[in-house]
Order: sequence, then structure tokens, then C-alpha cells
Amino acid sequence: MNQHTRTVPRPEVAGGPPAAHGRTGVVVVGSVNADLLTTVDQHPRPGETVLGRTLDVLPGGKGANQAVAAAQLGAQTALVGAVGSDQFAEPALAGLQAAGVDLGAVTAVEGSTGVAQVTVSADGENAIVVIPGANASVDDVVVDAYAELVGGAAVVVVQGEIPRTGIEAAARHTQGRLVVNLAPVVDVDREVLLAADPLVVNEHEAALVLAMLDASSGPVEAASSGTPSSGAEVPDGVATGSSTTGKATTGSAPEETEPEDTAVETDRGTADDEQRVVDALLAHGVPSVVLTVGARGALVVDGSGTTLVPSPRVEAVDTTGAGDAFVGALAYRLSEGDGLVEAARLAARVGAYAVRGSGAQPSYPWAGDPLPETI
Ligand code: ATP
Repeated sequence: MNQHTRTVPRPEVAGGPPAAHGRTGVVVVGSVNADLLTTVDQHPRPGETVLGRTLDVLPGGKGANQAVAAAQLGAQTALVGAVGSDQFAEPALAGLQAAGVDLGAVTAVEGSTGVAQVTVSADGENAIVVIPGANASVDDVVVDAYAELVGGAAVVVVQGEIPRTGIEAAARHTQGRLVVNLAPVVDVDREVLLAADPLVVNEHEAALVLAMLDASSGPVEAASSGTPSSGAEVPDGVATGSSTTGKATTGSAPEETEPEDTAVETDRGTADDEQRVVDALLAHGVPSVVLTVGARGALVVDGSGTTLVPSPRVEAVDTTGAGDAFVGALAYRLSEGDGLVEAARLAARVGAYAVRGSGAQPSYPWAGDPLPETI
């Protein structure tokens, strides 16, 4: 930690005392953002000025979203991260504080808080600028300072919005279960992926991770499917795949209200491709993979085989942060001792709950909220 850092005061806790270091169920090591959401009729062209309709400042960042999702469901949750010294720190932390997340390991650094500037046009198309700000300071030095907290967690969760050294340090200190949600896909040490149990990715991210593993190891022995390579371009150094807000579709056109959850039966091509990629990831030594496939749910794959966990059918309003809701819920259930498939079943219901409401954190359920049923 540099000399400009200070610790953010612990929040008022909504659901009991803050988790004591060393006894925390879920520790998330990741990003905290303020999402500046602007709506416009049409996006400005370069050099053009347009009048906007609304501006909202919402809490976001994949790390914060996942911590909020886990805590609201009942997990003793702590976050290792950073905010800046500007006016965006407070709104960025608001959801975490309301959820009772232990912020004792969130440092405040000089400069800006992570910010995602999201502009959504009337036709639902969005344009996003992400400024990492304080998230860029969450490196190995910062994470090493919380080695005890990370080491004492039942489940540690990392994503791709902090420096790779911070992700690698978190993986090194983990003694419980490591959940790696590599979004966006950054070029982390192979050891992180080989410790991921599970690696949680969508199809696009899975292909990039596979390309990265292929590139770092050369040809591998054929997976059970016989095709280890995804054919995706091998990223050089860093392969970005998603933004701070994931697909960042706040206000965007709703997804299909009739999800194609029969696609695995009706579209063998898609299912075979998905299976090939996850088989290849396992062939590289990744212990388990959860491939999220939107309205269809998730594919859970480990040494014992593949299970399709369907998502409940819901009317999707806004898919922003659904993946983060899924990851937070998965971590919570794993920290309570569920098996991977069982945890994914609950996570899919939580993901479906989240797409029914606008925004990321405001759309997440609390313990006791009725979740949609998987039929
Ligand atoms: P994002 O980046 O938008 O957060 P993602 O690509 O990481 O998302 P998705 O696969 O889109 O992740 O969604 C995560 C989970 O949320 C899915 O596995 C599913 O359970 C649920 N989900 C997403 N979209 C829908 C939908 N339209 N209907 C029902 N459930 C959904």
C-alpha cells in the first residue's frame, strides 16, 4: 500500500456485525465503480453535442456487484478493493454498505474512483467508457496486506477488473475454494486458472481463456471431445471481453421473453461447441467450469460430467449485472457447503431474478425474497 492510502471506515451493518477477519464466508477481491448512466435519444457522433434525458449515479463494478449479491442472500462477506478520494467514492460504496459487506479491506487512494460512463440511446444501444481509477491500485502489494482475510475465507472470488498481480496474489492466498470469474479476460498466470474451482465464464470469455491456455502451453492432448482449441484468436497480453458492467445493457432492449431453454436439444451445434470448449478447458487442468449461457442457464462441468442447469423463464427487463448476481449467489451457496450443481441451481434463479429489474445491484434479491422457480 502506498503512503496515500487510508482505510475506509467500516459501514453501519444492516444484518449483524461485520465479518471478523479469518471467519468470513465469502471474500471478494475486485473492483468498485460508480456507474454514470446517461440516457439520450441518439448517441452523439464524434464532434457532435446532443442533449441527454437523464443522469443517474449507481453503484457498480463487478467485484462490488458480486459482494452485494452474496451478502444480500446472507453470506458473511468482505471486499478487498479500493475507491478514490473523489465524490464518486460514496455512491460507489452505497450498495455494499446497505448490504452489510465488511469494507475494512477497502482502501481509499488519492485520485478518482473507478467510473463507468454508460450512455444508452432510445433504441437500447449503449456506449461505455470505463475509467479504472482506484481499481488499478489493487495489486499484489494491496492484496498481500489482506492475506489473512483472504486465507480465512471459505470462498474467494476474483474477476478481471483489477491488475493481474492482484488476482494472482488473491489466488496464492486462498486456502478455501477459489471462484474465478475472468471477466474481462485478462492474461493471468496459468496457476490461477488451474486453481479455479470453478472458472465462471460466458461463451465469449470461455473461448478467449481457452485461446490463452492453448497459447501458453502449446498443443495439448486431445480432450474427450477431441478438439481442444476453440479457434478463437490468441490474445496478446490482455484480451478484453466485457466491461465493468458486463454487457452493460441498462435500458437496452429487453432480451427475448421466451428464452430458448430447449436450445440444447434443438441446436446441437451450439451445445456441441459449448461442450467442446469446456471439455478443452478441463483438459488443460481447470478443475471445474460454469459456463453461463444467458436465458438458457448454465453448463456445469467438472470431472464427474456435464449438467445443464436451466434458468427460470422470466420477462427480462435489463440483463445488466445478471452474471455478477449469478457469481455472488454461487459463492454464497458454495460457502455454505453446497455442491457445484446445487449452488448453480440457486445461482441461476438469482440471475433470473436480477434480469427482471433495472440496473445491477438494485435488481438483486435479499434473503427471503421469492425467487423465480425453474420449471
Ligand atoms: P452479464 O455480463 O450481462 O452480467 P454474463 O454474460 O456474464 O452476463 P449471462 O449468461 O448473460 O452472464 O447471465 C448469467 C445468468 O443470469 C444466466 O446463467 C441465467 O441464470 C441468468 N439470466 C441471464 N439472462 C437471463 C434471461 N433472459 N432469462 C432468465 N435468466 C437469465
